[in-house]
Amino acid sequence: MKIEIDFSGLQAAAARMGAPNKQIKLDSGLGRLNEIDSGLGEGLVLGDDLQLSEIDNTNNLLSYKGRQIMLYIPEQGSLIEEVLRDGKIDGAKRLHVAECKTLENMRNQGRFERYHVTNDISGRYPVLGHHHYRSDVVEGKADLGVCKNCLKILNYKGYSDHSHLEKSKIYLDFNLAEFFETYSSYFKHYPTQKKSIGSYTKDWEQVSVNYRQQQNYTCEQCGVALSDHKRLLHTHHINGVKIDNALNNLKALCVDCHTKQPNHDHMFVSHEDRLLINQLRREQHKFDCSEYSDVLQYADSALEGLLLKCQKYRLSTPELGICIKHGNELVSIDLAWPRKKFAVVIEHSQQAPLRALGWNVWLASEGLANFYAMQKYIR
Ligand SMILES: [Zn+2]
Ligand SMILES: [Zn+2]
Repeated sequence: MKIEIDFSGLQAAAARMGAPNKQIKLDSGLGRLNEIDSGLGEGLVLGDDLQLSEIDNTNNLLSYKGRQIMLYIPEQGSLIEEVLRDGKIDGAKRLHVAECKTLENMRNQGRFERYHVTNDISGRYPVLGHHHYRSDVVEGKADLGVCKNCLKILNYKGYSDHSHLEKSKIYLDFNLAEFFETYSSYFKHYPTQKKSIGSYTKDWEQVSVNYRQQQNYTCEQCGVALSDHKRLLHTHHINGVKIDNALNNLKALCVDCHTKQPNHDHMFVSHEDRLLINQLRREQHKFDCSEYSDVLQYADSALEGLLLKCQKYRLSTPELGICIKHGNELVSIDLAWPRKKFAVVIEHSQQAPLRALGWNVWLASEGLANFYAMQKYIR
């Protein structure tokens, strides 16, 4: 996004007051942020544009300057033509979306191949290789598959506890836009999304406002009332067709329920907004989370991998939307087992105040890595 601001009026006013004619510039660091985003969109080269040590692996996800990223090797060798036909075949290079064994080894050995680092969520990635017989380089875009070790370490969609058949379905259906959306709470900046202009009707904005008004700004899925937080309520097209504004095709949904619907446009919801929605649901008594199926419906999607493990091992269900008073501040807990004083949080800054109050506080990545130990706290 480039912001153009016309300062001519301000300059004229300054001149009238006899101020020396100075060039007025906006320096908010926006230019640099744009550079990072467009660089990541195009693909940065590991070793040239950035170093491995600059890639953050907190929470087992990969990030560069606050943006979620993934890594892959474009060079496919003599397999290139097969990879261009089907990027998920054996031998094709994989997309790394987590701090898996491969990355760990690279860090330990201080060696790595020419990885591309990108946050392009289009699903098709530039690849190249040498033709079998001719010596020329073949280039194109391929729908590369995700690294299975990455899925395992995150327990993405319950990957590690599934049967072979279900695992391969998760692998084949993997979609990077959906993946980034799942973990959006962990990041402050999101990939730029191309809004398909013209996909909505001209009067859409008004149709949407009217519809939400009719619903009293209440989510039709979870029942949370958002009249004080109208921006958190969207109007969703049930059949996915954006020009079909028939009343029975519209649904008012809070952003959290919206991201969990089929046929939705991928969107990124901040951690603050997800926490706020759960606090409101709790205050308004919209929760009945005695079953894991309910917890999974309302919890932050970034915690799904851990929750599926808790469900599988029949741990008691956590509470959502709980706020604890610490001095004059309220600390929100993503997942709380209040009687055990055990909490799982997304934001690192929530850890210290809760610990000061005697809570055991873990991150989801710690829970997944030491699940046996975590069970002992909660049991
Ligand atoms: Zn991997
Ligand atoms: Zn909702």
